[in-house]
Amino acid sequence: MSAARSLSPVALEIPRSSACRTACCPACGVPTGTAAHAWQFVNARGETNWLHCSNCHSYFMDREYALDSEVEHTQQMTWGDTEQGAQLNEFKDLMYQSILRSICQLVSPTGCTLLDVGCAYGGFLKAAAAAGFRVLGYDIVPAAVRHVQQLGLQAQVCSHAADFSLTNEPLDVITVLDANIYWPDQPAELRQIYDRLKPGGLLVMRVVDKSWLATLGALLQQVTPAAGQKLLRRAVNDHRFSMPLGSLLGLLESTGFRIVSASPRGAVHSEKTSLPVKLSFGLGTALWHTLGIFLAPGAVVIAEKP
Ligand SMILES: [Zn+2]
Repeated sequence: MSAARSLSPVALEIPRSSACRTACCPACGVPTGTAAHAWQFVNARGETNWLHCSNCHSYFMDREYALDSEVEHTQQMTWGDTEQGAQLNEFKDLMYQSILRSICQLVSPTGCTLLDVGCAYGGFLKAAAAAGFRVLGYDIVPAAVRHVQQLGLQAQVCSHAADFSLTNEPLDVITVLDANIYWPDQPAELRQIYDRLKPGGLLVMRVVDKSWLATLGALLQQVTPAAGQKLLRRAVNDHRFSMPLGSLLGLLESTGFRIVSASPRGAVHSEKTSLPVKLSFGLGTALWHTLGIFLAPGAVVIAEKP
Protein backbone atom coordinates (compact mmCIF):
# COMPACT_ATOMS: atom_id res chain seq x y z
CA MET A 1 0.00 0.00 0.00
CA SER A 2 2.92 2.35 0.55
CA ALA A 3 3.73 2.13 -3.16
CA ALA A 4 0.19 3.20 -3.95
CA ARG A 5 0.31 6.17 -1.65
CA SER A 6 3.21 7.63 -3.60
CA LEU A 7 1.21 7.24 -6.82
CA SER A 8 -0.29 10.52 -7.97
CA PRO A 9 -2.13 11.55 -11.13
CA VAL A 10 -0.27 13.60 -13.72
CA ALA A 11 -0.27 17.23 -12.55
CA LEU A 12 -2.24 19.50 -14.85
CA GLU A 13 -0.92 22.97 -15.53
CA ILE A 14 -4.03 24.61 -16.87
CA PRO A 15 -4.67 28.17 -15.70
CA ARG A 16 -7.78 28.70 -13.60
CA SER A 17 -10.53 30.35 -15.53
CA SER A 18 -12.89 31.40 -12.75
CA ALA A 19 -13.08 32.02 -9.03
CA CYS A 20 -13.70 28.96 -6.79
CA ARG A 21 -17.19 28.44 -5.42
CA THR A 22 -16.21 25.66 -3.02
CA ALA A 23 -14.18 26.72 0.00
CA CYS A 24 -12.44 23.35 0.54
CA CYS A 25 -11.62 20.16 -1.34
CA PRO A 26 -14.57 17.83 -0.47
CA ALA A 27 -12.26 14.80 -0.47
CA CYS A 28 -9.54 15.96 1.95
CA GLY A 29 -10.80 19.27 3.37
CA VAL A 30 -7.83 21.44 2.34
CA PRO A 31 -8.80 25.01 1.25
CA THR A 32 -9.23 25.34 -2.53
CA GLY A 33 -6.72 28.20 -2.73
CA THR A 34 -4.01 26.01 -4.24
CA ALA A 35 -6.34 23.88 -6.42
CA ALA A 36 -5.81 24.10 -10.18
CA HIS A 37 -8.47 24.25 -12.88
CA ALA A 38 -8.87 20.74 -14.33
CA TRP A 39 -11.72 20.86 -16.86
CA GLN A 40 -15.16 22.21 -17.65
CA PHE A 41 -17.82 19.95 -19.13
CA VAL A 42 -21.48 18.99 -19.22
CA ASN A 43 -22.65 15.88 -17.36
CA ALA A 44 -25.76 14.74 -15.44
CA ARG A 45 -25.38 17.81 -13.22
CA GLY A 46 -25.29 20.25 -16.15
CA GLU A 47 -22.24 22.37 -16.93
CA THR A 48 -19.67 22.12 -14.17
CA ASN A 49 -16.15 23.31 -13.54
CA TRP A 50 -13.71 20.83 -11.98
CA LEU A 51 -10.58 21.49 -9.94
CA HIS A 52 -7.55 19.38 -9.06
CA CYS A 53 -6.53 19.34 -5.39
CA SER A 54 -2.80 19.88 -4.88
CA ASN A 55 -2.98 18.09 -1.52
CA CYS A 56 -4.82 14.80 -2.15
CA HIS A 57 -4.71 14.82 -5.99
CA SER A 58 -8.48 14.42 -6.19
CA TYR A 59 -10.56 16.05 -8.88
CA PHE A 60 -13.67 17.79 -7.56
CA MET A 61 -16.67 19.72 -8.80
CA ASP A 62 -16.49 23.41 -8.06
CA ARG A 63 -20.08 23.82 -6.93
CA GLU A 64 -21.34 24.56 -3.44
CA TYR A 65 -23.25 21.78 -1.73
CA ALA A 66 -26.93 22.34 -1.01
CA LEU A 67 -28.80 19.42 0.55
CA ASP A 68 -32.15 20.21 -1.13
CA SER A 69 -30.65 20.26 -4.62
CA GLU A 70 -28.59 17.12 -3.85
CA VAL A 71 -31.79 15.27 -2.87
CA GLU A 72 -33.53 16.55 -6.01
CA HIS A 73 -30.58 15.47 -8.17
CA THR A 74 -30.43 12.00 -6.55
CA GLN A 75 -34.14 11.41 -7.19
CA GLN A 76 -33.50 11.98 -10.90
CA MET A 77 -30.81 9.27 -11.00
CA THR A 78 -31.58 5.53 -11.24
CA TRP A 79 -30.48 4.84 -7.65
CA GLY A 80 -32.71 7.63 -6.27
CA ASP A 81 -35.75 6.73 -8.35
CA THR A 82 -38.39 4.67 -6.53
CA GLU A 83 -38.77 1.87 -9.09
CA GLN A 84 -35.26 1.64 -10.53
CA GLY A 85 -33.63 2.19 -7.13
CA ALA A 86 -35.32 -0.95 -5.82
CA GLN A 87 -34.26 -2.90 -8.95
CA LEU A 88 -30.67 -1.81 -8.34
CA ASN A 89 -30.83 -3.72 -5.04
CA GLU A 90 -30.86 -6.94 -7.05
CA PHE A 91 -28.27 -5.74 -9.57
CA LYS A 92 -25.70 -5.07 -6.85
CA ASP A 93 -26.27 -8.32 -4.94
CA LEU A 94 -22.95 -9.85 -6.10
CA MET A 95 -21.10 -6.93 -4.48
CA TYR A 96 -23.28 -7.01 -1.35
CA GLN A 97 -22.64 -10.73 -0.80
CA SER A 98 -18.91 -10.38 -1.40
CA ILE A 99 -18.69 -7.53 1.11
CA LEU A 100 -20.72 -9.49 3.66
CA ARG A 101 -18.35 -12.46 3.32
CA SER A 102 -15.40 -10.13 3.98
CA ILE A 103 -17.11 -8.63 7.06
CA CYS A 104 -18.09 -12.06 8.41
CA GLN A 105 -14.44 -13.18 8.22
CA LEU A 106 -13.70 -10.45 10.78
CA VAL A 107 -16.82 -10.36 12.98
CA SER A 108 -19.69 -12.68 13.79
CA PRO A 109 -23.07 -11.13 12.83
CA THR A 110 -24.84 -12.42 15.96
CA GLY A 111 -25.39 -9.50 18.32
CA CYS A 112 -23.64 -7.09 15.91
CA THR A 113 -25.23 -3.80 14.87
CA LEU A 114 -24.48 -2.60 11.34
CA LEU A 115 -25.30 0.90 10.07
CA ASP A 116 -25.42 1.46 6.29
CA VAL A 117 -24.69 5.10 5.41
CA GLY A 118 -26.47 6.13 2.21
CA CYS A 119 -28.60 2.99 2.34
CA ALA A 120 -30.74 3.98 -0.67
CA TYR A 121 -33.52 1.40 -1.21
CA GLY A 122 -32.08 -1.01 1.34
CA GLY A 123 -30.46 -3.67 -0.86
CA PHE A 124 -27.43 -4.08 1.37
CA LEU A 125 -29.50 -3.77 4.56
CA LYS A 126 -31.70 -6.67 3.43
CA ALA A 127 -28.64 -8.80 2.64
CA ALA A 128 -26.95 -7.91 5.96
CA ALA A 129 -30.15 -8.65 7.93
CA ALA A 130 -30.41 -12.04 6.19
CA ALA A 131 -26.79 -12.71 7.21
CA GLY A 132 -27.75 -12.17 10.85
CA PHE A 133 -26.80 -8.55 11.59
CA ARG A 134 -29.07 -6.10 13.39
CA VAL A 135 -29.29 -3.43 10.69
CA LEU A 136 -29.91 0.30 10.64
CA GLY A 137 -29.67 2.73 7.73
CA TYR A 138 -29.92 6.33 6.70
CA ASP A 139 -30.23 8.21 3.45
CA ILE A 140 -30.94 11.73 2.24
CA VAL A 141 -33.81 10.59 -0.05
CA PRO A 142 -37.12 10.37 1.91
CA ALA A 143 -38.76 7.97 -0.61
CA ALA A 144 -35.83 5.54 -0.24
CA VAL A 145 -36.08 5.63 3.55
CA ARG A 146 -39.84 4.98 3.40
CA HIS A 147 -39.18 1.99 1.12
CA VAL A 148 -36.66 0.56 3.62
CA GLN A 149 -39.12 1.08 6.48
CA GLN A 150 -41.80 -0.74 4.47
CA LEU A 151 -39.36 -3.67 4.23
CA GLY A 152 -39.57 -3.78 8.03
CA LEU A 153 -36.08 -2.36 8.55
CA GLN A 154 -35.07 0.66 10.63
CA ALA A 155 -33.98 3.70 8.64
CA GLN A 156 -33.96 7.47 8.99
CA VAL A 157 -33.78 10.49 6.67
CA CYS A 158 -30.39 11.88 7.65
CA SER A 159 -27.27 13.30 6.02
CA HIS A 160 -24.58 13.06 8.72
CA ALA A 161 -23.48 10.18 10.98
CA ALA A 162 -23.48 12.59 13.94
CA ASP A 163 -27.19 13.33 13.38
CA PHE A 164 -28.29 9.69 13.16
CA SER A 165 -30.59 9.22 16.13
CA LEU A 166 -32.14 5.72 15.88
CA THR A 167 -29.56 4.55 18.40
CA ASN A 168 -26.99 6.11 20.72
CA GLU A 169 -25.14 2.82 21.20
CA PRO A 170 -21.64 2.56 19.72
CA LEU A 171 -21.82 0.55 16.48
CA ASP A 172 -19.97 -2.62 15.44
CA VAL A 173 -19.90 -2.05 11.67
CA ILE A 174 -20.56 1.02 9.51
CA THR A 175 -20.78 0.53 5.75
CA VAL A 176 -20.48 3.25 3.10
CA LEU A 177 -21.13 1.67 -0.29
CA ASP A 178 -20.77 4.00 -3.30
CA ALA A 179 -21.81 6.95 -1.13
CA ASN A 180 -18.72 8.92 -0.04
CA ILE A 181 -18.36 10.49 -3.53
CA TYR A 182 -21.49 12.56 -2.80
CA TRP A 183 -20.26 13.98 0.51
CA PRO A 184 -19.46 17.70 0.70
CA ASP A 185 -16.88 17.20 3.49
CA GLN A 186 -15.38 13.70 3.62
CA PRO A 187 -12.93 14.32 6.52
CA ALA A 188 -15.82 15.50 8.72
CA GLU A 189 -18.01 12.49 7.78
CA LEU A 190 -15.16 10.04 8.47
CA ARG A 191 -14.53 11.63 11.89
CA GLN A 192 -18.23 11.33 12.72
CA ILE A 193 -18.25 7.68 11.62
CA TYR A 194 -15.12 7.05 13.71
CA ASP A 195 -16.90 8.55 16.74
CA ARG A 196 -19.98 6.33 16.22
CA LEU A 197 -17.95 3.08 16.12
CA LYS A 198 -17.00 0.90 19.07
CA PRO A 199 -13.28 0.37 19.65
CA GLY A 200 -12.52 -2.56 17.35
CA GLY A 201 -15.47 -1.54 15.12
CA LEU A 202 -15.19 -1.70 11.36
CA LEU A 203 -15.70 0.86 8.62
CA VAL A 204 -16.33 -0.88 5.29
CA MET A 205 -16.33 1.25 2.15
CA ARG A 206 -17.01 0.42 -1.49
CA VAL A 207 -15.28 3.31 -3.24
CA VAL A 208 -15.02 4.48 -6.82
CA ASP A 209 -11.56 5.51 -8.01
CA LYS A 210 -11.45 6.39 -11.67
CA SER A 211 -9.17 9.38 -11.05
CA TRP A 212 -6.66 7.73 -13.41
CA LEU A 213 -9.31 7.75 -16.15
CA ALA A 214 -10.16 11.38 -15.34
CA THR A 215 -6.49 12.31 -15.78
CA LEU A 216 -6.53 10.64 -19.21
CA GLY A 217 -9.81 12.39 -20.10
CA ALA A 218 -8.49 15.80 -19.04
CA LEU A 219 -5.39 15.35 -21.22
CA LEU A 220 -7.41 14.00 -24.16
CA GLN A 221 -9.86 16.89 -23.90
CA GLN A 222 -7.06 19.30 -24.81
CA VAL A 223 -6.52 17.41 -28.08
CA THR A 224 -10.00 16.07 -28.90
CA PRO A 225 -12.61 17.88 -26.75
CA ALA A 226 -15.58 15.59 -27.58
CA ALA A 227 -13.67 12.35 -26.91
CA GLY A 228 -12.07 13.83 -23.80
CA GLN A 229 -15.44 14.88 -22.36
CA LYS A 230 -16.89 11.44 -23.06
CA LEU A 231 -14.05 9.87 -21.09
CA LEU A 232 -14.48 12.42 -18.28
CA ARG A 233 -18.21 11.63 -18.01
CA ARG A 234 -17.33 7.94 -17.65
CA ALA A 235 -14.68 8.79 -15.08
CA VAL A 236 -16.75 10.97 -12.74
CA ASN A 237 -20.38 10.00 -13.51
CA ASP A 238 -22.45 12.38 -11.34
CA HIS A 239 -20.01 12.24 -8.41
CA ARG A 240 -18.85 15.35 -6.58
CA PHE A 241 -15.23 14.22 -6.41
CA SER A 242 -12.85 11.56 -7.68
CA MET A 243 -10.16 10.58 -5.17
CA PRO A 244 -7.12 8.34 -5.71
CA LEU A 245 -7.35 5.26 -3.47
CA GLY A 246 -3.91 5.91 -1.94
CA SER A 247 -5.07 9.38 -0.80
CA LEU A 248 -8.22 7.90 0.77
CA LEU A 249 -6.16 5.35 2.70
CA GLY A 250 -3.94 8.17 3.98
CA LEU A 251 -7.03 10.16 5.04
CA LEU A 252 -8.46 7.14 6.88
CA GLU A 253 -5.19 6.65 8.75
CA SER A 254 -4.99 10.33 9.68
CA THR A 255 -8.58 10.06 11.01
CA GLY A 256 -7.36 7.31 13.35
CA PHE A 257 -8.37 4.17 11.46
CA ARG A 258 -6.11 1.17 10.87
CA ILE A 259 -6.39 -0.16 7.31
CA VAL A 260 -7.31 -3.85 7.41
CA SER A 261 -7.53 -4.35 3.64
CA ALA A 262 -7.97 -2.40 0.40
CA SER A 263 -8.50 -4.11 -2.93
CA PRO A 264 -10.54 -3.99 -6.15
CA ARG A 265 -11.43 -7.62 -5.34
CA GLY A 266 -15.10 -7.90 -4.37
CA ALA A 267 -15.99 -4.44 -5.74
CA VAL A 268 -17.64 -5.65 -8.99
CA HIS A 269 -21.34 -4.78 -8.73
CA SER A 270 -22.92 -7.62 -10.68
CA GLU A 271 -22.57 -10.69 -12.88
CA LYS A 272 -24.30 -8.42 -15.42
CA THR A 273 -21.54 -5.78 -15.18
CA SER A 274 -20.16 -5.19 -18.70
CA LEU A 275 -17.20 -7.29 -19.83
CA PRO A 276 -14.79 -4.32 -20.28
CA VAL A 277 -15.52 -3.20 -16.71
CA LYS A 278 -15.06 -6.76 -15.39
CA LEU A 279 -11.75 -7.00 -17.26
CA SER A 280 -10.70 -3.66 -15.81
CA PHE A 281 -11.38 -5.01 -12.31
CA GLY A 282 -9.44 -8.21 -13.07
CA LEU A 283 -6.42 -6.40 -14.48
CA GLY A 284 -6.70 -3.72 -11.77
CA THR A 285 -6.67 -6.35 -9.01
CA ALA A 286 -3.55 -7.98 -10.46
CA LEU A 287 -1.73 -4.64 -10.84
CA TRP A 288 -2.68 -3.46 -7.35
CA HIS A 289 -1.53 -6.64 -5.61
CA THR A 290 1.71 -6.99 -7.60
CA LEU A 291 2.90 -3.43 -8.28
CA GLY A 292 0.70 -1.30 -5.97
CA ILE A 293 -0.60 0.63 -8.99
CA PHE A 294 -4.32 1.43 -8.89
CA LEU A 295 -6.01 1.21 -12.30
CA ALA A 296 -9.33 -0.49 -11.39
CA PRO A 297 -12.72 1.29 -11.40
CA GLY A 298 -13.29 0.80 -7.67
CA ALA A 299 -12.24 -0.96 -4.48
CA VAL A 300 -13.43 -2.32 -1.16
CA VAL A 301 -11.68 -0.80 1.85
CA ILE A 302 -11.98 -2.23 5.37
CA ALA A 303 -10.65 -0.12 8.23
CA GLU A 304 -10.75 -0.67 11.97
CA LYS A 305 -11.14 1.79 14.83
CA PRO A 306 -8.29 0.68 17.16
ZN1 LIG B 1 -7.99 17.31 -1.56
